Amino acid sequence: LTQLYAPLNFLGFVYREIKHALADMERMFGLISENREVQDRPDAKVLDTRAADVRFESVSFSYEPNRQILFNVDLAIPAGKTLAVVGASGAGKSTLSRLLFRFYDVTQGAIRINGTDIRDLTQDSLRHHIGIVPQDTVLFNDSILHNIAYGDPNASFDDIVQAAKAARIHDFVSRLPDGYDTQVGERGLKLSGGEKQRVAIARTLLKNPPILILDEATSALDTRTERQIQEELNLIARNRTTLIIAHRLSTIADADIIAVMDHGKVVEQGTHRELLLLNGRYAQMWQMQQVAEETGGPFS
Ligand code: ATP
Repeated sequence: LTQLYAPLNFLGFVYREIKHALADMERMFGLISENREVQDRPDAKVLDTRAADVRFESVSFSYEPNRQILFNVDLAIPAGKTLAVVGASGAGKSTLSRLLFRFYDVTQGAIRINGTDIRDLTQDSLRHHIGIVPQDTVLFNDSILHNIAYGDPNASFDDIVQAAKAARIHDFVSRLPDGYDTQVGERGLKLSGGEKQRVAIARTLLKNPPILILDEATSALDTRTERQIQEELNLIARNRTTLIIAHRLSTIADADIIAVMDHGKVVEQGTHRELLLLNGRYAQMWQMQQVAEETGGPFS
């Protein structure tokens, strides 16, 4: 019996970790845990790729029966490219990321990765391929070390330090009296918005996923921090298939494709230059933002 204890104890640990991870993801997405209807198919396949081509094909979606949120959304993110989605609050931008992560299944149409409908993949393997840097990073009540290591439970201390360095949080952590053992979260040291986001970036670097979802913060970080974080985000997005949920246009002008959403529909799609030439919704938003920046006012 004692021989069984260690593996069972370990399994219990793994189970708690997984529950923890899911709860965290749900919090990240601002979801309540009532929604667990997504199930693996008995013959679900394991996704295993470093180059993910992601496509939304005529995707329609409703959270509730009588209120459709997405209408025939067609989007393609070739492997390694970046798609930025912009649009008014409530347009359905974050819903796209929740569907890609498969918190919900599409009502109609399909989301495919390298041609395979994500409903035919195991949820574990799908989620293993996706890294998320959310608007508001949730830290566990644990050490900074564990908060970063969570991106890859098998990572060595050196890997963690390397990720922290790349996310430019290492110097900050090193100056703390307890270094990487510093407790953070609700009962520990409170980190600033920028520091939390750097922990999220380090986590994601450690996870090293081929697909990335960046949910841009709406809450204002100071301009300098924001610019630095933006540089780091650009760095981690390089060579990954990236979906950016954008709230500011200035940060996404370099995206390979920009999609403008309005009331659940994609109303314009193209590069920054193409959309400016089109002189439609995006061009209008861009001009408004320029004015807001010149007058120092907020843009939303
Ligand atoms: P924002 O820029 O404000 O983050 P968004 O474009 O990301 O907005 P979504 O979060 O995708 O918008 O929401 C789209 C619509 O779906 C909103 O009208 C919202 O009320 C609704 N919605 C979001 N989550 C749920 C949910 N869990 N249940 C029911 N409706 C929801």
